[in-house]
Order: sequence, then structure tokens, then C-alpha cells
Amino acid sequence: MLEAANLRRQMVRQIPLDTIEFLESAGLVAANSGWRLYLVGGMVRDLFLNRKTVDLDLVVEGDAVNLAQRLAEITGGKVVIHSRFGTATLTWTDRRIDLATARAESYARPGALPIVKAGSLVDDLFRRDFTVNAMAVDLSPGHWGNLIDPYGGRFDLSRKLIRILHEKSFVDDATRVWRAIRYEQRLGFHIEDITLSLLKRDLPHLDSISGDRIRHEMELTLREEYPEKVLRRAAELGVLAKLHPDLKGNGWLKRKFEEARQLSVPGRPSVSLYLALLAYPLCAGDVEKLIAYLRLPRSLAHVLRNVAVLKGSLRALAQPRLHPSRVYLLLNQSSPPALAALSIATDSEVVRGHIRAYLERLRYVKPALTGDDLNKMGIASGPQIGEVLRRLLEAKLAGKAKSREEEERLVGRWSRRT
Ligand code: ATP
Repeated sequence: MLEAANLRRQMVRQIPLDTIEFLESAGLVAANSGWRLYLVGGMVRDLFLNRKTVDLDLVVEGDAVNLAQRLAEITGGKVVIHSRFGTATLTWTDRRIDLATARAESYARPGALPIVKAGSLVDDLFRRDFTVNAMAVDLSPGHWGNLIDPYGGRFDLSRKLIRILHEKSFVDDATRVWRAIRYEQRLGFHIEDITLSLLKRDLPHLDSISGDRIRHEMELTLREEYPEKVLRRAAELGVLAKLHPDLKGNGWLKRKFEEARQLSVPGRPSVSLYLALLAYPLCAGDVEKLIAYLRLPRSLAHVLRNVAVLKGSLRALAQPRLHPSRVYLLLNQSSPPALAALSIATDSEVVRGHIRAYLERLRYVKPALTGDDLNKMGIASGPQIGEVLRRLLEAKLAGKAKSREEEERLVGRWSRRT
């Protein structure tokens, strides 16, 4: 057995000084009301792994909302109260701290949201997903820094294992299937054997999870540093196929995600770019099914639909001698993220060249003449102006109107003809 530890030195080494000071005063403020306050969740886990965490999760055996309000007075921060859950979020400058009242949970049926009642810290840790996430650090004066580890999280960390806390864990909340895979792949751990067999047994429970919650898991997955690792494992375990049977977590996806990262340096690719690449093998009808299942917001759905339409233009776009005006017409209905996805997904250098030309040059081309100018030249207001502007743009892209004078000449010629 590992000895009960005090983590003060480790915390002071890894956590910024002002956060340490905050954690000390918060423990004191809670104690003044006779409550005990604890640091929980990812930050405790990451302390042992030498990884940086930004999110602070605190649990109080007391009243979280009241404590958050008092801490807001000290820090000058703002509190948002989530009264349904007895939780509060405290923010100041770039800080965000979640405070929760220690609670026990039970589930009326698989996939339902939990029924919550006040409980002890140990109850609160028991409702968590994995042993490595079910540790706490005491912040009470006199005990500050003591590790509380009732479920063997530290032992599992040392063995690099992701282990659920009880046999019904995935039945209670099947989103933990996605969480298990994410932690396993992010940390380079293994899902422990019994946990893995229960995960496989309980896969059907994923069907009882709402599309909104699955979308949230998907977004978190695509925000990982290497989402393709999570998707590969999810495909291997039959989890990805629950979203759509044609989605693949294969070598193609890995290559394309790597390319997306190279192109997005120094930032990370957006969720929409990754999702568009993941959905690339789907036909338009199946893209619609995925959009409906995940209840994707309009902006994400738009990118996916754009890509499905663009795939229909691939053959035309693969022609090397395509005229710029034709490139413009093939691409101008699509958003830049959809074009970026197509450019990464295609293996055709010619297609990529056309997309690059469009994004870098063609989309900015505009006639020198404006609607007002055309009005003054005698073109009647209304749809005609739009039509002339469109023809002017085409002429300009075709190199037939290189100056304002040439545009005027063309408009004059068209007016005489009508
Ligand atoms: P990260 O943000 O680095 O992925 P985290 O551990 O901070 O990791 P959050 O999703 O912020 O993860 O959740 C905070 C804590 O809440 C987790 O450490 C875990 O203890 C608990 N938790 C979150 N989601 C669940 C869940 N579905 N079931 C049980 N416990 C959960």
C-alpha cells in the first residue's frame, strides 16, 4: 500500500503562487463556517503526472453557493450560480473555479441525469468516473495538502490504469465510455481489463445517451492534442460506429489530421475542420443523419453540408486548365473551413491549387464599378444591377476587364445589345 501523502510541496512546485494563496484562504473561509473544502478532479490527477491543468474544481462539505459568494468578495470576482445542482462558478481576471457541494448521486434509469442529494466527500468521489479522477486534496487549515484517495487512484496512476469505481458505472452514464478512451489515449494509459470488458458489455447503453451529450463528448475529443488516437481506439472498440457505421478512425484520418495541424500552426485546428475530415467519407444523406443525431449547431452543420456538395465538384476541379472564373463559380458558395477540409482531404495537387488560388486571390476579386456607377450609366435599379455586376465579375475573372475603363466599355456594349 502507498502511504497517505501530503502534497503541499508538490502543489507549491507546480501550481502558481497566487493560486496556492487562493486555495489557502478558501480553505480558511470554509473552515470559519465549520465546513471542509477539497481540491478534486483533474488537477489532483495531473499533479502526480506533472501535467498542467487550468481548471480548478473544489468540493465543500457545506454550502458551495454561499462559499462562492464569500470568495467573490475577497477576490473581487463574479459568481454564476447553478442552483439546480448546488454548484457555482467563480471567475476573476482569467480565472475560473467550479465549486460544488459534496453530493451523492443515484440514477433512476440508465442514461438519465442523476438524482442528487447532499453527501460526504467520499460519496462525492464515489460518483466520479475513474479512480484516477476520484482523489481529493484537503484544503482545511491543519490538514492542508493531505491526499484523500479512497478508491486507489494513486496506485492506478502508478500502473497507468483507467479503472471505473463500480460495476454499474457505464450503465449509469455511458458517456464514460468516451471519457475512458480519451484519458487512456491522452495519458498513454490502458483501460484496466475488467473495466474494458464492462465497457464492451455496456456499449448498447450509448444508445440511451442524448445526441447533445454525445456531441459534447465529440467536441471534447476533437479538442484533444491528438484526436485521431482517440478516434482510432473508439473505432477499434465499436464506439465510433455508434455515431455512424461508415466513420473510420484509420490511417487516412491520422494523416489528414496531421496535415490539418501543420496547416493550422501555431494554433490547433478548429473542431469544425476536424469534424469535416472525420465526416468526409459520408455521402450527403448520411451527413444529414449525423447532423440530426448530434444536433449540430448551424455553423458546424453548414461546413459539413458544404463539404458534401464540394465533393460533387471534385472531378471538375481536378482539371488542370480550369479557367479562374470556373474555379470561382465552383467554390464561391462554400465557406473557408469547408474549402480547407476539402483541400486537406483530397490527394489531388490540382484541386489543392485551385482551392489555394480561390482562397488567396479569386475570392477577393471585385469589379471596379459599383451599383451606383451602373445606375449613373443608366442601368435601372433592381435585379438588373445584380446581373450586370455578376457578368462584370465573370469578365474580370476571365481577364476581359482589366481596368475601370474596360468595364465601362463592356457595360456600354451590353446596354446597346438589350
Ligand atoms: P480534463 O478537463 O483534463 O479532461 P477533468 O478531470 O478536469 O479532465 P472534467 O470533465 O472537467 O475533467 O470533469 C471534472 C471532474 O468531474 C472529473 O475529474 C471527474 O472526477 C468528474 N466527472 C466529469 N464527468 C464525469 C462523468 N460523466 N461521470 C463521473 N464523473 C465525472
